[in-house]
Amino acid sequence: MPNFLFRCAKVAARTFARGSAACRAAGAAVVVLLTLSLTACGGDASGNGGNEKPVVLTTFTVLADVARNVAGDKLTVESITKAGAEIHGYEPTPGDIRKASKADLILDNGLNLEAWFGQFVEGLDVPHAVVSDGVQVMDISEDSYQGKPNPHAWMSPVNVQIYVDNMVKAFSELDPDNAEVFRSNGDAYKAELQAVQDEMKTRLAGVPEPQRALVTCEGAFSYLARDAGLREVYIWAVNAEQQATPQQITRAIEYVKANKVPAVFCESTVSDAPMQQVVGATGAKFGGTLYVDSLSEADGPVPTYLDLIRHDADVITKALAGASAKASP
Ligand SMILES: [Zn+2]
Repeated sequence: MPNFLFRCAKVAARTFARGSAACRAAGAAVVVLLTLSLTACGGDASGNGGNEKPVVLTTFTVLADVARNVAGDKLTVESITKAGAEIHGYEPTPGDIRKASKADLILDNGLNLEAWFGQFVEGLDVPHAVVSDGVQVMDISEDSYQGKPNPHAWMSPVNVQIYVDNMVKAFSELDPDNAEVFRSNGDAYKAELQAVQDEMKTRLAGVPEPQRALVTCEGAFSYLARDAGLREVYIWAVNAEQQATPQQITRAIEYVKANKVPAVFCESTVSDAPMQQVVGATGAKFGGTLYVDSLSEADGPVPTYLDLIRHDADVITKALAGASAKASP
């Protein structure tokens, strides 16, 4: 059970609180124990009162959606960053820290995705779990990040099945009474993940061999490209300050020209200006906006993780396979 750091007595307090109705009949000793344990924890730090659901905080919207599928109606799940936010270099606000200090569990992706996370949780007395734990990691092959793990492991729905297992484990420790519910929800959602994985691969199999190059702004699609058998090319490896240098843009332009790539893409959380330079210099089409580091708002194109995978597979296939390309913004 690596990486599950349970440091707070608050979970214990909740466990006692939840069991208290049954325990009351068992005698005063248990009531005394309950009182003592709550006192030891300084009362209910979440300010929820004893009957509210435990609060799980995730670092970004993709994890929040996956976690909600596992939690069902047993836990309250929220995301620290909002839809559309840049996740790698996010700067937490005092409000984020306040919110996190009242949470019962925090989930992060790990693999150095959230550069800010270590410092963020350092001063917090709240347990956290790394959901990518156990995933077969792909290394970044270029730039200054060469050899470091590519953090975007969720871009393979098969990997997200492992995320789900880690969430089931963490939620069951947080709320043992509902462990069976989490397991059952997790199993049902894993079946959906497998279905969307199969659907994605089938869809992308429709792109003819010469066009099977996925050119994006960030190197965030390594896992999806591996699963779907696409060649991955990107302007920069990981979203950071030094992205889109002239050399990086030139490299992408040369690749697109040499391989006659029909369409290129960029992601929703970064400016597509560098990719528009590639478009201008090559005559390739801008194939559309892909989602990876964030979901859209609820009324946008990808309100859920399953929508994200379907949307990206659809946009990529239409732009690369259909020279007919009906439409891209
Ligand atoms: Zn990213």
